[in-house]
Amino acid sequence: MTSNSEAFDRARAVIPGGVSSPVRAFGSVGGTPVFVARADGAHLYDVAGREYVDVVGSWGPAILGHAHPEVVAAVQAAAAHGLSFGAPTLAEAELAELVRDRVPLARKVRFVSTGTEACMTAVRLARGATGRDLVVKFAGCYHGHSDALLAAAGSGLATAGLPGSAGVPAAATAQTLVVPYNDPDAIREVFDRRGAEIAAVITEPAAANMGVVPPAPGFNELLRELTAAHGALLVYDEVLTGFRVSPAGWWGHEGRAVAPDLFTFGKVVGGGMPLAAIGGRAELLDLLAPVGPVYQAGTLSGNPLATAAGIATLRLADGDVYARVDAAATRLASEVTAALTAAGVPHVLQSAASLFSVFWGVDAPVRDYASAQRQDAGAYRAFFHSMLDAGVALPPSAYEAWFLSAVHDDAVLDRIVAALPAAARAAASSRS
Ligand SMILES: *Cc1c(COP(=O)(O)O)cnc(C)c1O
Repeated sequence: MTSNSEAFDRARAVIPGGVSSPVRAFGSVGGTPVFVARADGAHLYDVAGREYVDVVGSWGPAILGHAHPEVVAAVQAAAAHGLSFGAPTLAEAELAELVRDRVPLARKVRFVSTGTEACMTAVRLARGATGRDLVVKFAGCYHGHSDALLAAAGSGLATAGLPGSAGVPAAATAQTLVVPYNDPDAIREVFDRRGAEIAAVITEPAAANMGVVPPAPGFNELLRELTAAHGALLVYDEVLTGFRVSPAGWWGHEGRAVAPDLFTFGKVVGGGMPLAAIGGRAELLDLLAPVGPVYQAGTLSGNPLATAAGIATLRLADGDVYARVDAAATRLASEVTAALTAAGVPHVLQSAASLFSVFWGVDAPVRDYASAQRQDAGAYRAFFHSMLDAGVALPPSAYEAWFLSAVHDDAVLDRIVAALPAAARAAASSRS
């Protein structure tokens, strides 16, 4: 048995910041990250043996709860047959069919290992398909850490207080136009000026990496209209929302009203293993090598363990699972609002289906990155640590969504709810 601080010291000596991804550090909330020994259902256990209710869910994948026995059994069975072949498997076709069954616009699917790769490939594919170079992204949306998409990229950078990343050549982002989210005039103006040069608009169709910022009514429809009118592609980055906010992601949740050309998926589709995907019209996907001229590859792409986890997860994530996640989110969101209101903490809680987050110290709805950044992160620090002391592990950043699962039942939620009043009071007395 060791303590989190001993684990942190040991990790920090050999790993930058002691973490393999910056969002795991407690940079903005302070203190020592929880070093996880294991997880089960809605619970995490740290290296010191302490139990927490988990509200991070591996940042999205754990929609069934951690270590679901059938997912674990599927991965174990796959592992017994070999860890990686570097050759095609039928399981990949099966997973692609499951994706297409839920999102028929993803007529063909290419698997990769991370959401970063999926978005990077979607951009390359859009450029290859259109013969154009410019890509439009929205400030505060995160599409992974490839050079071209690291401009105004939301939570990880916002939490660290960074405008962008060192090491990204100006030439790489010169082809990326960054526009405010939910601003119809700004996107119209970009198309008026540069429409003939734009390969694609990539968007989080409901933004959840600057806190949760749902699209304004008609905004996604406008993106479809403008891209279609100018011969550009529309990419729905559903790495976070896909197979989480409904069986068919945000696209399904918004009633299939908008038909993007390409989707990117990750997180839930890999069931907690490294797997992500690009999906879209057959003739677009067939521009990828080996059929077409757009190159993309991966030694571990479609890895058999990851594919097995994805298949098991999608098969288990039925209507009942989504109903449970929705019910848990509805209850918890209203309990959080009630506790903060009772303690006099100014805040706005925003939801996009079963995703929600709290913006601290603001008094109006947050529609874009600029208004998201006006929040008071100090209030969250106190709230976060009070919850953690009570055994509830929230995302260690005010810019992240809270993630629930089908096993966050009333008994689990009761524990979170019981911790809210003290945390709300801590937030009230710490406001800057
Ligand atoms: C998490 C995320 C990514 C990046 O996925 P990784 O697997 O972390 O590379 C891309 N887009 C969105 C919307 C995400 O939430």
